[in-house]
Amino acid sequence: MPSFPAPIESRLPNVGTTIFTVMSRLAQECGAINLSQGFPDFNAEDLLFERVAHWMRAGHNQYAPMGGVAPLREAIARKVADLYGTAYDPDSEVTVTAGATQALFTAVAALVHPGDEVIVFEPVYDSYAPAIELQGGRVVRLQLAAPDYRPDWDAVAAAITPRTRMIMINSPHNPTATLWSADDFARLAALTHGTGIVVVSDEVYEHIVFDGRRHESCARGPELAARSIVVSSFGKTYHITGWKVGYVVAPRELMTEFRKVHQFNVFTVNTPVQLALADYMADASRHAGLAAFYQAKRDFFRAGLEGSRFEPLASHGTYFQLARYDRISDEPDTAFVHRLTRESGVAAIPVSAFFADGRDDRVIRFCFAKNEATLAAACERLRRV
Ligand code: PMP
Ligand code: GLN
Repeated sequence: MPSFPAPIESRLPNVGTTIFTVMSRLAQECGAINLSQGFPDFNAEDLLFERVAHWMRAGHNQYAPMGGVAPLREAIARKVADLYGTAYDPDSEVTVTAGATQALFTAVAALVHPGDEVIVFEPVYDSYAPAIELQGGRVVRLQLAAPDYRPDWDAVAAAITPRTRMIMINSPHNPTATLWSADDFARLAALTHGTGIVVVSDEVYEHIVFDGRRHESCARGPELAARSIVVSSFGKTYHITGWKVGYVVAPRELMTEFRKVHQFNVFTVNTPVQLALADYMADASRHAGLAAFYQAKRDFFRAGLEGSRFEPLASHGTYFQLARYDRISDEPDTAFVHRLTRESGVAAIPVSAFFADGRDDRVIRFCFAKNEATLAAACERLRRV
């Protein structure tokens, strides 16, 4: 095997392998039920696969236009207008991306200059800080307090400086399964009013919102829509996380900058999948039904945890459920999930992995995007812990 003959000065010296990869690998090694990394264990509808095959056979196998195929950009603009009331121009304000991860990275690369400050809320999705650091930006971390993980708006106000270039937000929130309210968005709008701050709004779980609540998008209302890049993912919505297709909507001034980077780090996303997704989106019940579909899974999983010593926190959205385990153990969460995976055969994610300082609330994250049989088997194991 070849070996590089000189020292490497890492651009990301503190980054190792993501916790999702680590825990999924451990689950596989141990033959554990994998409720760690967030992905469904069930398939999408055949119709979606048929549409991909159709467009492949019809010869749509070459580069798509840089921003995405027109029918998909048009379908996205229609959906966003229907749901959130903002009209984005499909030609200049909608871009199809290789998943939300790429969209987030590209948004940061396009707009953050060295020395700029970017505010994030911890527990924070793992890709945000490395994206900022690679651009020479400074990550300004505000912590959401357990157990309800609400934002502290006075702290946000205090953290905003003339160097604040961007605020990255995520609702419904991974990993805490909390939602920001209309009032939270109003506070964000008020605090950024009159500034040049860009909001990057990670809304990949926009359709997975429970108990009759409403998803409050940054695309709702002119004030935030004018300064936001809203990020969505087809992976979550149509049970196809492995396809890695998502999109962003943003005002054209921001999208122009976004596309300058997008064209050189991705150029364009695979064509037949985009055409198939455009067809599939025509039926709005497919995304509108997602909340009820996952609420039933949440309720099934929570019912299965009854009689266990795990203490579930509220789950208002996403396909995640946090649980406290302090009635079982006083171990740190990372040690606990490793032992849970090895000894009890259920893998989960330690929430401390989403904090730079390793804050440990003794809370772990389960993914309930699973068949009932998987959830039932996992709960049976968890009740014995
Ligand atoms: N943001 C959040 C909050 C996520 O949970 C995920 C993935 N689960 C992503 C971004 C990345 O989405 P994608 O798989 O489309 O890149
Ligand atoms: N977003 C998924 C999660 O939170 C993981 C995706 C990944 O492994 N990068 O579990």
